[in-house]
Amino acid sequence: MVLCNSVLRSTRPDGGFNLSADMASETNQQQETRARRILEVLRRTYPEVQCALNFRNPLELLIATILSAQCTDERVNRVTPALFEKYKSAADYAGASIDTLAREIRSLGFFRNKAKSVIDCCKAIVEKHGGEVPRTMAELTNLPGVGRKTANVVLGNAFGVQEGIAVDTHVRRVAARLGLTKHDDPDKIEADLMRLIPRKEWAMASHWLIWHGRLRCMARKPDCPGCELAKLCPSANKVSAKDKRVTMRKAAAKSGKRNK
Ligand code: SF4
Repeated sequence: MVLCNSVLRSTRPDGGFNLSADMASETNQQQETRARRILEVLRRTYPEVQCALNFRNPLELLIATILSAQCTDERVNRVTPALFEKYKSAADYAGASIDTLAREIRSLGFFRNKAKSVIDCCKAIVEKHGGEVPRTMAELTNLPGVGRKTANVVLGNAFGVQEGIAVDTHVRRVAARLGLTKHDDPDKIEADLMRLIPRKEWAMASHWLIWHGRLRCMARKPDCPGCELAKLCPSANKVSAKDKRVTMRKAAAKSGKRNK
């Protein structure tokens, strides 16, 4: 990778450059330029990525995304084939019993809450939208159990509508390490990314950041030496032991909650 960005040019007398210091004081324009370069690298690195949840229509993606809370996409993909075979419409889910659905998704954790969310959401789809998954952010986020992240996943991947950027745990971590946001709140992180990333890339940017978080910028042990973004990243080789301890504490707390 050739780095000719003025952001990265040396300001040090020894001819080297201090990436972290330069990025800490970068202007909005410089940050946008760096974000574009990050996207170029991610696009080249992950040319084939797409939504990791299996689905054939908007309803299946909506259900799979609700089920994926606090759970891996792989586990969801193991459960959904049988589920999608049995429940083919929003009315099918709306008429299901919580006990039965909870049993069918038991392996995903939080199964009772998730079963209730799916049933309540589908009841609203039947009552307010004639059984069809709505196509707008406002209508989707008005459905029970559907927040901006889920709505963004459905709009971007099932309808091809670029309304926002889905921020999950990987996007949150990787965006922070890359210096694309200073926030911890997902809505504020999304707003920062929407400012930095061209609208036509919003859905793919989320996928790229998620895959980078899974394959390279892992929570506990990021592979900075092998990272394609190292020259554009202020955190390269600097993820501190403290950060790792915080991440591990969060992971332990999450798994404790999951086991309740
Ligand atoms: S250089 Fe390290 S911290 Fe930065 S994105 Fe790559 S793996 Fe993550």
